[in-house]
Amino acid sequence: MNEWAETAAPLTAPLPESEPAATEPDRGWMRRVVKSQQLERVQHIHTVVMTALGISGVVGSVLLSVLVRPMSGAGIATFLTFFFLVGMGLTIGYHRHFTHRSYKAVTPVRVALAVLGCMAGQGPVVFWVALHRMHHEFSDREGDPHSPNLAGTSRLQRLKGLFHGYIGWTVQHPVPNANFYARDLLTDKAVMWVNRRYYVWILLGLALPAGMGFLLTGTPYGALEGLLMGGLARMFALHNIIWWITSFAHVFGTRDYRSRDLSTNNAWLALPTLGESWHNNHHGYPTAAILTFRWWQVDISGMVIAVMEKLGLVWDVSRPTAAELEARRVR
Ligand SMILES: [Zn+2]
Ligand SMILES: [Zn+2]
Repeated sequence: MNEWAETAAPLTAPLPESEPAATEPDRGWMRRVVKSQQLERVQHIHTVVMTALGISGVVGSVLLSVLVRPMSGAGIATFLTFFFLVGMGLTIGYHRHFTHRSYKAVTPVRVALAVLGCMAGQGPVVFWVALHRMHHEFSDREGDPHSPNLAGTSRLQRLKGLFHGYIGWTVQHPVPNANFYARDLLTDKAVMWVNRRYYVWILLGLALPAGMGFLLTGTPYGALEGLLMGGLARMFALHNIIWWITSFAHVFGTRDYRSRDLSTNNAWLALPTLGESWHNNHHGYPTAAILTFRWWQVDISGMVIAVMEKLGLVWDVSRPTAAELEARRVR
């Protein structure tokens, strides 16, 4: 099993605030980050541009609907289709496969998931994985790139923390050292092939929904709707899905399993986050491929992994045993 899947494995202590982090930021911190103002600037500009693109899609869709004609069924179909596909790239691709190695997959599936994940505009796969592994290493402690719980305890400070966990972190985080956090991916030819072409996939993620809109309607107007809804507004929606997880899912909700952080489960977010809002389940057992720990916990991403397993496209799907879950359950 991958070294990171092992080290990210579940932690047993029940969360006392005084519990020391696994690794203090000052110990070996310089190996974990790349100190480069230029790289930081590039990453922050990237975030601002991708966020602006997403907002332009929402504004454009609203303007089109109000000034020209209501959004067509085809426009909505492109949104739902690409929300699902690119969302899968993030959840079962970037997150559960590439970051946590919770299952193995045939190369075409791995490449497709990496490409789809790139289309989200949240950074190339190696960067995303490195940053997320950093989150798991320091979760809710100094060094966590997007904890909402480190700004203080007054009402104002908590609000400030929530803002940081939601969007502030996207232009404040350190640059994670991929050589430290994602060495396994740096030597993975298929992943690096996708990673190097990141901006090609971003453009493809805009061109495909435009093409789908054109095919469905046979008109350039349909292509425009597809671009705005399935391309740009979809990008904004998926940014928000991730930001909900980085903020709300470490503040509000229930803690059903022991983990060394303040991660929470939020049933009301399960559908739009494609299952990722079972975030306490995830931190309790980071290598689990499917986050349905109780029968009613709907995890669409986990269902897709289970279907792909049946089809023989993925295997070695990591599932905690009932006894393992029981041992970690908060009573
Ligand atoms: Zn994770
Ligand atoms: Zn988390």
